Amino acid sequence: MASVYRQKISGLQLNLQNSLVVGVIITSCNVKTFEVNSKYRPGRRAVWSFTLRDSERDTVNVTVWGTEPYISKLNVSFSIGCVVEVINAKVQDYPADGKNERFMPTTSSRYHLVINEGTALIQLHDSPNKELYESLLCIPMKNVTNVRSLSDILMNIESLQDQFVDILAAVTFVSDSRNLITKDGRALVCRDFEVNDGSTAKAVAFKLWENEWIRRSANWQPKHSVLFMSDVLVAMDKFKKKMGLMIVRKTVITEDPDVPQADKVRNSISQTDIDSTSHDPFILPKPENIKTVMTIQEISEKLNKKESRDGERMQFVTILYATVTEINMENVQGSDILVTRCALCKRTIPVTQDSCMNLECPCGNGRRAPINVHTFYLKVNLKDETGYLIGCRLTGVPAEQALSCSVDEFKAMTQTQREELKWKLILENCDVRLQVLGPTPTFPRVLYNILSLERIREVKD
Ligand SMILES: [Zn+2]
Repeated sequence: MASVYRQKISGLQLNLQNSLVVGVIITSCNVKTFEVNSKYRPGRRAVWSFTLRDSERDTVNVTVWGTEPYISKLNVSFSIGCVVEVINAKVQDYPADGKNERFMPTTSSRYHLVINEGTALIQLHDSPNKELYESLLCIPMKNVTNVRSLSDILMNIESLQDQFVDILAAVTFVSDSRNLITKDGRALVCRDFEVNDGSTAKAVAFKLWENEWIRRSANWQPKHSVLFMSDVLVAMDKFKKKMGLMIVRKTVITEDPDVPQADKVRNSISQTDIDSTSHDPFILPKPENIKTVMTIQEISEKLNKKESRDGERMQFVTILYATVTEINMENVQGSDILVTRCALCKRTIPVTQDSCMNLECPCGNGRRAPINVHTFYLKVNLKDETGYLIGCRLTGVPAEQALSCSVDEFKAMTQTQREELKWKLILENCDVRLQVLGPTPTFPRVLYNILSLERIREVKD
């Protein structure tokens, strides 16, 4: 093997040979795959990029090209926080068109490292100085004294269109991750979260699309985790048709930055509700983040107070300790316990149809074969010493988890087996995590969505 020598990011030079760069991965993008029609290397190829840091000041972007299996393997082996050695990568200039500027984090190095499968190597750096690199993870990429407050950004949002801003804020809400399928049939995962810095009444919502950040954000604690987000894009939200803040590939997130301002931001929101929910009732919180415990009577009293703010639908989440008195395991008069939905547009499909018939959906307009999925749609009655909750909805994944039974297993069961299944839960004391949605003028019924339902095991000492 040719000799390699250790190179600091600050010392990288164009066309440097046999370099070895050590650094901690501070952010990482999803792998992208694409079809190549080249005569020499046809087939599917993939690319993955990440950002490396080796000092408070110095960062460099790394791009890896290769076959799909090679890139996927690297991507799962080296996650954010790993200290790695990049050996013999090409040191290259960015293309002059400035496109990379928008799609990659801004780095201190004016070059980037390029790895082609078979010509360079990435491996874990295992040495006593590893911790020094790891400690760089909680040092913000920029000076946090220059951040603008959320209220200032929101007030001037029109004039900031297509610009990047830096934010220091505390997490107020984290949703469960969701699986989505795009119109062209690709499977995606996303997670919603909200932050506030104490300067505004309303929290600001974000979506995460990068798998690495979806994984890491599972550990974010509402009202405790603080994020420094550099280069957040101010842009028009195509779906909401209004200006918003977006995390893009250029954005770098520093979790719980090691700066005094982080405590200030954390304290500024400590007075808010303990179980903050999203402003969007369709975005569900992670059940394990729910802390409030209420009885059925307390839930009813809260609903009857009608303290709803200016027409906003009342919604809250709570833990309820209750007994399950009934779960419907039978299809009765038009209420099916298994619902068929289109995997793409999520519309429910009546038994009389083969597809969603949605002309805007590829499965509905015949551009691709229908992909129909079945989900549970159960009604559950609950009871505690203070009252009853009738017709709570237990659907999708929470239903499969509560029954420890997949939809496919359920479909294969006889009616007797289905009835037996419910006796795992009936008359048992359960920990129920509920989302309660108050009535609206157009929808006068209260909705009780069960986010998780678990038997409480008696602890014998
Ligand atoms: Zn559809």
